[in-house]
Amino acid sequence: MTASPLVWLDSAATSQKPRQVIQALVDYYEGYNANVHRGVHALSMESTGRYEEARQKVADFVNAESAKCLIWTRNTTEGINLVANSWAMDNIKPGDEIVVTAMEHHSNLVPWQQIAKKKDAKLRILPLADDHTLDMDAVDRIIGPRTRLLAMSHESNAVGTINPVKELAAKARAVGAAVLVDGAQSVPHMPVDVQDIDCDFLAFSGHKMLGPTGIGGLYVKLDVLEQMTPFLTGGEMVLAVTYEDATWDDLPMRFEAGTPNIADAIGLGAAVDYLNALGMDNVREHEVSLTRYALDAFKELEEELDVYGPKDAEKRGGIVSFHHPDVHPHDLGTVLDRRGIAIRTGHHCAMPMVRSLGVPATARASMYLYNTEEEVDLLVDALKEALRYFGNGAK
Ligand code: PMP
Repeated sequence: MTASPLVWLDSAATSQKPRQVIQALVDYYEGYNANVHRGVHALSMESTGRYEEARQKVADFVNAESAKCLIWTRNTTEGINLVANSWAMDNIKPGDEIVVTAMEHHSNLVPWQQIAKKKDAKLRILPLADDHTLDMDAVDRIIGPRTRLLAMSHESNAVGTINPVKELAAKARAVGAAVLVDGAQSVPHMPVDVQDIDCDFLAFSGHKMLGPTGIGGLYVKLDVLEQMTPFLTGGEMVLAVTYEDATWDDLPMRFEAGTPNIADAIGLGAAVDYLNALGMDNVREHEVSLTRYALDAFKELEEELDVYGPKDAEKRGGIVSFHHPDVHPHDLGTVLDRRGIAIRTGHHCAMPMVRSLGVPATARASMYLYNTEEEVDLLVDALKEALRYFGNGAK
């Protein structure tokens, strides 16, 4: 238990959940718990109906052309690994290049390192400019005829930069490459439209967008998905099986072997209802305004702290990452925790990116739709006090 009242500034790690989402889980377990796509009995039909209805909601949320394009996963990490182990194993050839950005979360870096090794392909990194946006001049030098895949985060979880994914996708398409977007930090926070971006893959996590843990989505463009071979095989993904062979079920079940996470998929549907009721444009607008307020408030601490990421709130999400040269982020985080303020400290699973800032770790405050300007004030006051406590060494 943390001190109360809680100031939750760790939504980039996971969001808090509205009562409606928790209630959807309770309703499923108390009211119609049954496996899906199996029984002819009433409960199975009800659970199947609600589960597929949730898929449609989530598919619509990212404007997928069909609910068939939305595969349930556990999280963003699993979605990207599915693409790596299915699409990439069949499509990346020796000498091909996989391009990622220098700001990737490990989830969108390590799987591509593995594929590059297995396939004798080359991993290329799009560098950053001084303000931690992508160096767009380098993009045109690096994306070229050998590029087979561009895999990029939509928003950096380490410094908050929002990447121009539509523009980058067009550059990749122009050289015939496929496009994967890591939407872990964008889908919860802004309208995301896969058809507008024109990406082949979009991976995201339910737990960062008011939904339960253990459920996420992977969008795959329909014609790409139709050509992909399943990565996991077994029950629930087959049409007919003999002792010698098997044929695959329809999309998207073909990619969902085994009993799925029914309750949490339905819970994610409830989270999407909640977000839709607020309106994603409003969610984004609130965050831009709160981020602007926070960046302004942090100016008071500019002499002591390095604050990372673009200065313009329109170019970033509600993630404010900072570092003091003499105070370890863990110490700052611990002092803030005593005041009930939860921030994240560390390398944020983006070790190469954070190291490139010249520090081993940062402190990160990440905001969402429930945060307020008063909470930003509490954070800044607590930071001032913490820095006084640690001797206020100037940077
Ligand atoms: N990508 C980014 C940009 C993230 O912020 C995260 C979560 N911190 C992930 C991928 C991985 O998400 P998950 O742990 O839910 O798979």
